[in-house]
Amino acid sequence: MNPLEQPTLFQASELGLSGADALRPLQAKVQYCQKCRLHSTRTHTVFGEGNTTEPLIAFVGEGPGENEDLQGRPFVGKAGGLLDKMLKAMELAREQVYICNVVKCRPPGNRKPEEDEIKACGDFLSQQLRIVQPRVIVALGATAANTLLNSTKPLGNLRGQWHKWEGRPVRVTYHPAFLLRPQGSKHKPEAWTDLQAVMAKLKE
Ligand code: SF4
Repeated sequence: MNPLEQPTLFQASELGLSGADALRPLQAKVQYCQKCRLHSTRTHTVFGEGNTTEPLIAFVGEGPGENEDLQGRPFVGKAGGLLDKMLKAMELAREQVYICNVVKCRPPGNRKPEEDEIKACGDFLSQQLRIVQPRVIVALGATAANTLLNSTKPLGNLRGQWHKWEGRPVRVTYHPAFLLRPQGSKHKPEAWTDLQAVMAKLKE
């Protein structure tokens, strides 16, 4: 069974909790988590931030980079700057969306998270998404896409169509860090197409 599809323990709204209240105990667990080797090299855990109560979109990235690890916040480096531009183009502010990653601790040297690290951290991501209940989930890059969709397909095979995660629509696009690399910049128009599909979905 996909570790991200375990049954929901509770819905925050059923308990009369705001998303922020419901997330607090989970964030505390993450802060002290030692479930995988990434805990030993982190400076800070990077839990997630933004609108925690039914945001329009939850953006899910791969894992914290150097700046994120230092500040304990998601997408604050150069890739974060591009994500901000993407949001601006969508006429959205960070405060309207929720932003998090598959793994909450930085993989050393910004390597891709290993399979066992993704598995160890997966339940935190699924609980986050169940609590905040975004209208649409945007998977940024192949690690987020494959984790959410329990897939091993290349990103190109997952883009351009709607998927579901526990009944919520998921759109797959490129990670901003990839779009900033020389080989990735030519894919920016495709990323914009993906985001336009998300905007259209939000208007339905
Ligand atoms: Fe725990 Fe996730 Fe950090 Fe691993 S990456 S130590 S599972 S919080």
